[in-house]
Amino acid sequence: MISSKTSFIALIGNPVSHSLSPIMQNAAFKYLGLDLIYIAIPCKDKDLELVLNTLKKINCKGLNITIPHKERVFNLCSEISPIARKLKAINTLKLNSEKEWSATNTDVEGFIYPLKKLNLKKKQSIVLGSGGAARSVIQGLINLNLSKISVISRNKSSLNELIKNFENKIKLQGLLSNNNQAQNLIEEADLIVNTTPVGMKTAKYEMDVLPYGDSFWRSLNSQTIVYDLIYNPSPTHLLKLSSSKGCMTIDGLQMLVAQGMKSLSFWTNGLEVPFNIMNEAIKNDL
Ligand code: NAP
Repeated sequence: MISSKTSFIALIGNPVSHSLSPIMQNAAFKYLGLDLIYIAIPCKDKDLELVLNTLKKINCKGLNITIPHKERVFNLCSEISPIARKLKAINTLKLNSEKEWSATNTDVEGFIYPLKKLNLKKKQSIVLGSGGAARSVIQGLINLNLSKISVISRNKSSLNELIKNFENKIKLQGLLSNNNQAQNLIEEADLIVNTTPVGMKTAKYEMDVLPYGDSFWRSLNSQTIVYDLIYNPSPTHLLKLSSSKGCMTIDGLQMLVAQGMKSLSFWTNGLEVPFNIMNEAIKNDL
């Protein structure tokens, strides 16, 4: 029950009305018996500093940060974890003992959560897309000791920047999506991760489309694991096709829930909530 002692945690972004974080975090707080609620606060660029400084002064225990503020929030934090610096993006804040914001990023841990139980050491992978999520995915694949990562993108400049950011860490190559070599890579890949928004349920995109078109997927074989960061629709068109070819598939809901579990752990200095509590809350809502 909400009382005069109840504190809150908020999601700050623009827009936030589509977010599933309030559903899964409130289910987790209830399960853990915490006197906390989770709300979503829309915030325009020009108001970000004022909003974050104001939230420091009231009973707000922590924040999630989403698009478009994941980079701008750097200037407003007094402590930033190495992983947030590496990714150049922040998604979780909490107040430290000096009542200043301490920041981290839980996307890498979220991404690798469903992969940890699979042995991917020395395996080959392909990452589709070269935006913000691809950065977390590549870092996650490096952490899991994969031997080779090929990033396939339609955007030459973001692709080059991404490869530069991670080179020397692992065997990493960038390819444009129209490169013929992509077919051989698809055939040999142990893991393919889609970080493009193609197939997502929005007004802007068709849902029955595949990243880089149908023929891009013709050499996909049943031994490959296909991980789509998109979670709505569930399953995506890509995961339906992959299942029909006999591939193991992983949907983006697992990453979404796992990064939320890690944020909760950061806010509460280590509390853990079972994955299913948050996962079921979202599934019941979708
Ligand atoms: P982003 O920074 O905008 O990057 C998107 C990437 O996809 C860019 O390389 C972009 O290329 C490419 N792309 C966009 N439309 C494309 C198309 N029609 N064909 C081919 N490539 C296309 O976005 P993001 O933050 O990385 O997020 C990407 C997706 O991952 C979103 O659907 C997001 O919801 C999902 N995501 C899920 C989770 C999760 O927890 N499950 C976490 C993070 C992100 P251009 O630069 O040329 O546009």
